[in-house]
Amino acid sequence: MSFESLGLAPALLRALAEQGYTEPTPIQAGAIPVVLEGHDLLAAAQTGTGKTAAFALPLLQRMSTAAASGNRRPRALILTPTRELAAQINDNIREYGKHLRVSTAVIFGGVSMGPQVNALRRGVDIIIATPGRLVDHMQQRTIDLRGIEVLVLDEADRMLDMGFLPSLKRIISALPTQRQTLLFSATFASEIKSLAMQFMHSPREVSV
Ligand code: AMP
Repeated sequence: MSFESLGLAPALLRALAEQGYTEPTPIQAGAIPVVLEGHDLLAAAQTGTGKTAAFALPLLQRMSTAAASGNRRPRALILTPTRELAAQINDNIREYGKHLRVSTAVIFGGVSMGPQVNALRRGVDIIIATPGRLVDHMQQRTIDLRGIEVLVLDEADRMLDMGFLPSLKRIISALPTQRQTLLFSATFASEIKSLAMQFMHSPREVSV
């Protein structure tokens, strides 16, 4: 199995080669073709399996090829439980996307709103956020989620454990209903299944 055979664009293949990745991990091999086809995805994968690239690579491909909306509304939203994870996802996306023209903003709590507001105002393609601070931006009307085409729920089980369900519901209800939703979780507890039932459309399931 190779990254080429998964259908990834040359600009992404080049970045992966520069990163020293030689072949996809099982979650990448399972998830990437499904996401590139546009399906919703319910993926069971722990940290360390390569799950970040499993959603980041097809997301970047979509951001680079699909017709840009002309304005600079964010087109993808990645929600993750902690600021450390948000920063790490952002680092990975910038690395994988270094040969593409795709911009990102990281939004998390515990720091002042100002720089985040400025970044959002300049216009970004991909937002990586923790749920609580994203809701703060929604309340202050400093974020426009009406152009979101892809939603990623990363470590969904941990977000629920941390009490983010009300924030998640509030965020998801502000998104266009016509979108692609990718949910990654270490376990498929009943709360995760019910989240998927509520907010996803016939998701394909991949587990490793
Ligand atoms: P993650 O599970 O997304 O946190 O990734 C775990 C680690 O594996 C990260 O340091 C990635 O850079 C690395 N990684 C992800 N995919 C691959 C791959 N296909 N080949 C080698 N390393 C990888």
